[in-house]
Amino acid sequence: MNHSNRPDRSFGFTFRSIAVFIFTATLVLLLSPALAALIPVDLRCEYLHSPFAVDEKQPRLTWRFETTERGQKQNAYRIIVATTEDLARKGKGDLWDSKKVKTSDTVSIPYAGIELPSRQDCFWRVQAWDQDDKLSVWSEMGRWKMALLEETDWKARYISFRDNSPVWKDTKELYLPPARQYRKEFRAEKKIRRATIYATALGIYELDLNGQRVSTNFFAPGWTDYHQRAYYNTYDVTSMVHEGANAVGAWVADGWYSGYIGFGLLTGIGTEKTGRNTYGKTPALMAQLEIQYTDGSMETIITDATWKVTDQGPIQQADFLMGESYDARKQMRGWARPGFDDSSWDQAIVATANGSAKATFYEFQNPAAGNPEIKGRPIDLGFKRPPLLQAFPGVPVKQLLEIRPIAITSPTNDVYIFNLGQNFAGVVRLKVNGSEGTKIRLRYGEMLHPDGRLMTENLRKARATDFYTLRGAPEGETYTPRFTFHGFQYVEVTGYPGKPGIEAITGIVMHSDTPFTSHFECSDSMANKLFTNIVWTQRANFIDLPTDCPQRDERFGWTGDAQTYVRTATYNADVSAFYTKWLRELMESQRPSGTFPGYAPFPFQHGWDFGTAWCDAGVICPWTIFTAYGDRRIIDKCWDRMEKFIEWRQAASKDDLGVSHGNAWGDWLALSEKTPLEYVDTIFYAYSVKLMAEMAQATERKDRATHYRNLYAKIQKAFQEHYMKPDGRLLVDTQTAYAQAIFVGLIPANLRQHAGELLAKKIHENDNRMGTGFLGTRALLPALTAAGQNDLAVRLFQSRKFPSWGYEVSQGATTIWERWNSYTIDHGFGGEQNASMNSFSHYAFGAVCEWMFSSLAGIDADSPGYRTIIIRPMSPGLDSDPDQKPIDWVKGHYDSIQGRIVSSWKRSKNTFDLETTIPANTTAIVYMPARDKSSVKESNLPISGTKNIKFLRQEDGRSIYFITSGAYHFTSQL
Ligand code: BGC
Repeated sequence: MNHSNRPDRSFGFTFRSIAVFIFTATLVLLLSPALAALIPVDLRCEYLHSPFAVDEKQPRLTWRFETTERGQKQNAYRIIVATTEDLARKGKGDLWDSKKVKTSDTVSIPYAGIELPSRQDCFWRVQAWDQDDKLSVWSEMGRWKMALLEETDWKARYISFRDNSPVWKDTKELYLPPARQYRKEFRAEKKIRRATIYATALGIYELDLNGQRVSTNFFAPGWTDYHQRAYYNTYDVTSMVHEGANAVGAWVADGWYSGYIGFGLLTGIGTEKTGRNTYGKTPALMAQLEIQYTDGSMETIITDATWKVTDQGPIQQADFLMGESYDARKQMRGWARPGFDDSSWDQAIVATANGSAKATFYEFQNPAAGNPEIKGRPIDLGFKRPPLLQAFPGVPVKQLLEIRPIAITSPTNDVYIFNLGQNFAGVVRLKVNGSEGTKIRLRYGEMLHPDGRLMTENLRKARATDFYTLRGAPEGETYTPRFTFHGFQYVEVTGYPGKPGIEAITGIVMHSDTPFTSHFECSDSMANKLFTNIVWTQRANFIDLPTDCPQRDERFGWTGDAQTYVRTATYNADVSAFYTKWLRELMESQRPSGTFPGYAPFPFQHGWDFGTAWCDAGVICPWTIFTAYGDRRIIDKCWDRMEKFIEWRQAASKDDLGVSHGNAWGDWLALSEKTPLEYVDTIFYAYSVKLMAEMAQATERKDRATHYRNLYAKIQKAFQEHYMKPDGRLLVDTQTAYAQAIFVGLIPANLRQHAGELLAKKIHENDNRMGTGFLGTRALLPALTAAGQNDLAVRLFQSRKFPSWGYEVSQGATTIWERWNSYTIDHGFGGEQNASMNSFSHYAFGAVCEWMFSSLAGIDADSPGYRTIIIRPMSPGLDSDPDQKPIDWVKGHYDSIQGRIVSSWKRSKNTFDLETTIPANTTAIVYMPARDKSSVKESNLPISGTKNIKFLRQEDGRSIYFITSGAYHFTSQL
């Protein structure tokens, strides 16, 4: 699919223009040797390229460098920010001229010019001085535009349709209202210089201008706790508004605001126990179109009661979990163009005019003692304006790939099942030619039953069914749902006129458009398939928020899953802006007690309002974003809430240890071993406090850093006294117990090796199989590698024996499964498994990817934001695995915020070969496997005296070097 032409949200510099810039800049460099060899590129503001609506008062600016020479470093920069492109081109920063700032920082530099008003256009460029104080060329042009910063900037009002329906109380029948269409005509009387539209909804919306879809985004404005906050989106529509008559239209559907969400219906919680109408009863729309004329005057078109609305359009049902129903006979040609006859449409009303809508909201409540129980409380579902309205800071959901089926089967007459060959999240494009009124049903599933039927038991209450009724167009018709998505590999088509051809269905892959940043390949083809399975699972679960699964009636931002996987997510994609958004929701979901809940947003409580390790996402996720992107502002933004959380943890703890409390998920889904909850709680208490100390230190909160270091030392001491024998043996004798204690650093350094041996022994005794669950698995391979058991770590990684990643791959997985044994060729879905808790797209066990990069490829951050890097490939011994050929080469790269880091290695019995590249303005420590330093060469030359490489020491069979930026080729004798 071609998505290069994106009118929305960003000013859209193309890769071509960047390539042309780099080419020209290199040419200039060659001709002017006095210039620095650094070229500043990839200008970003608040992590985004040319964002169109920024409401940070001091937006942070980031760049990186292109260079062909080694050892390049920035000694100083100068940023200019101007009101026009012309001024910026001339080097005149009328908004800000930082002048020469002596620093090597290039990431998240806060704007420090004159105060920026709403709607301000900002054009910026940067130039750098290198290590020899030589000046670089100016960067290409960067841009951003300020959002609406004041409440008074909004003239528009939230509007709705007149909603006289009673609050839905039936838990047996589904209530699936249509997506409404809104429209308004207006005239633009003068020559247009610029047109911008700001839009939001309680619900989800799509905009049309003069018959053209305004954006390629889906599910805007995303899921927030609408009682606390909503986002708006901003679109440049200059090319869509014409002088003369115009029309603007909008679709508005229930979305997360009032549609079915999560397991509300399944578990009988939420509004009237239906799981729908969680935040309100009636969706509402607010939009403001601002037209600037060339004469300087401005005109504003706003949503108000002059708009028209109808429920008679083609989208008769529109629900995330249940699906969409589209009747093409009801299409209204030209509804979003001027001149359309809307006399049969209703008048829209301001949203407040619907008045109140009383209902009862059911959820679990924490009694002072004993188990939580479901209780009802009165609520009013009438319109309430979200107290905070902010510019959407994340990345929009888009339709990003289109995939063709690999097979069609027909289990029964008139039923056809399309196999798309890949489990993913999104929708389909249906192509059909038939007579008017023919109704086609589309059902979705991740797997088939052995008899060829679609397997839908694991969807629980998610109907996951779309309907399409043909209008009978002689040229044929196509349909793609807009306001729903499904998690699936198979599509069951019923009612198709005649026998469908393979072209009748294609899969449309949807996810938040986070740029992918890595590559992993090695000598074991299973591992290569696993890597793509992990990335596919990330795609399927990064849909506005990080979710547990995309298919069944959950799709929550489960915090335990998020904290387990977030580090992997940062390797696979640039999730900086995506997490900037979700971390607001996470912080906002903090419970009154100070803990963080099991999922964020937190629409309703099920069981306790927290669980060990799930709640710690409130610290682990901000810390990970800080680590991957060097983001100190995220720490500042989360700080008070994180401190409150630790206070809660401290108050809950006994004798400086964790306790058994909350939802007892613990090491969830562990197969053979049970690690007590209070042990896991101690681990996560310690881990959160440790990360707090690091974050306090990094943000110069010196007293707090000391406080958390002391607290960590107390927990560590208590842990060692309570859980550890003097020889390092743990009283909780599970793989998870050892793995977590090593991972978090609770075992003293002198006993770590021994703890590694004890852990290895446990694994050997378990027939070299894992016994870990959700939490333990994330720690297991990193802990083994850190404690001297790398061969065993790689062996577990390459294993095909149940339970393992290789086992899943061997059973035909194209994604990561919720359970190790979600499906087996021999036993199907049955056996001990609960079909309703059996997702085939759950990223948590994919957290092994973090170890694949940090250890197998050997790419890790040595300091936040990869300013200093570790290149330490951990290759296994050649004879270390009786079952599989141990991995003997890896090709990996990661596009960090500083630029591309490469680590590709291969080994033979006696030699090791490593090609590595680190970006300009960074340095790295390279751990090169080698018999001794004299056997190590770089680019075929002896190293001693080589510029940019410094030998540090020989340690554990490795020669350790410090390198400055650039590309290197090391070889050694083992
Ligand atoms: C979700 C998990 C989640 C868990 C809590 C499940 O239903 O799918 O991934 O973390 O509940 O144990």
